[in-house]
Amino acid sequence: MEVRRTVPVALDVDSDDAALLEDTVDMFLWCAQYVVDHAFQGEYVTTSKTTLDDETYDDVREATGGFNGGLVQAARNKGAEACKSVVERWKNGKKASKPTFTSPHVVYDHRTVTFHDDYVSLATTDGRIEADYILPDKDSDTPHSQYLFSNEYETTGAELHYHDGDWVLHVHCKKEVEFDTSEQATTENGTVLGVDLGVNNLAVASTGTFWTGDEFDHWRREYEKRRGSLQQCGTRWAHQNIQSVGRKEEGRFKLMLHRISNELVAEARENEYSVIAFEDLTDIRERTGASWGHKWAFDRLYEYVEYKAEEYGITVEQVDPENTSRRCSKCGFTHPDNREDEDFECLNCGYENHADYNAAKNIGLRYLRRNQTGGDGGAPLGVRLNSGTLNVNGGYSPADDESARTGVHAESHRFSGG
Ligand SMILES: [Zn+2]
Repeated sequence: MEVRRTVPVALDVDSDDAALLEDTVDMFLWCAQYVVDHAFQGEYVTTSKTTLDDETYDDVREATGGFNGGLVQAARNKGAEACKSVVERWKNGKKASKPTFTSPHVVYDHRTVTFHDDYVSLATTDGRIEADYILPDKDSDTPHSQYLFSNEYETTGAELHYHDGDWVLHVHCKKEVEFDTSEQATTENGTVLGVDLGVNNLAVASTGTFWTGDEFDHWRREYEKRRGSLQQCGTRWAHQNIQSVGRKEEGRFKLMLHRISNELVAEARENEYSVIAFEDLTDIRERTGASWGHKWAFDRLYEYVEYKAEEYGITVEQVDPENTSRRCSKCGFTHPDNREDEDFECLNCGYENHADYNAAKNIGLRYLRRNQTGGDGGAPLGVRLNSGTLNVNGGYSPADDESARTGVHAESHRFSGG
């Protein structure tokens, strides 16, 4: 599986390079807009990246006097994705108009950005520029040292943003994580994807995919700053601007949550799940220490996943959240000391894993157990994981091994009869 992170890094850009980057931003947004305008020309909106590429690439390259091919393609992807989300909203009976791109940014991938130890090299309208990173104290435990400069993570691309004279690069990093391969089990019909929501990781799926909260946190701080400086003005103009910052913030977060919900539903479809299970969201602030902003995000995410999943016949449910973070998904032993921050280590059986991943598995299992008590004689379901299926007793190994493991905690004992 992969863990993905986004790390914001401020760049030290001199005035010549800044002028080039501004041109690049303008060109990039122009290209994305060109693709959208083209997609909206016909009777139907075109959303296929291949079709849009065939129909616009040469024209765009010519019109821009040979703008970097990698950036043209990144702009086309941006345009195509924006069209796709409009069409999706229409399908769900919601209003949406033709997208326009105003927020100054450029999307970079491995062809257009190169990361070095102290600086980055970025493609522009005129060759490449190099810009030093502006970093906090290197020895402190920042996302930069944890992810960006960690040997475990590889960089996959970045988004360059411009605001108030500052250039900030949002670097996407990922790492491969090995999971305990003894977690192999038989696959049964009917599976459920468990999803844990939280602050450090906005969402973690029982397949082992993580959606981190770094980007969300960064933008929350950013908009807080903007509101703060406007509040000091105290004028009527400033008040109206605060409201406009609020609308922009909401728009950005909704876009981000749409993306995560699309990826969650895609995960479910690729693996042929029939159910996506979340924890009950009612008291999630009290349980996780999440802010009202997070609660708002969790509610939106749930809502988006629910309507998008419905389209594919996938049910979305909420389950009782009690102890999902303290319970061992392997043996069922439940204890507050099983978990310390992001690390889960079972005091009973020694099972070790990422705490949020363990919780996601428990949420899937909770749904299965709840639905077994109905006694409708249906075939048992399994929680689909990255490397196999977890059965209803929380076990992976052959059935005759189960009795030895279950019964440690009342919850697993209750249903060990199947
Ligand atoms: Zn255990």
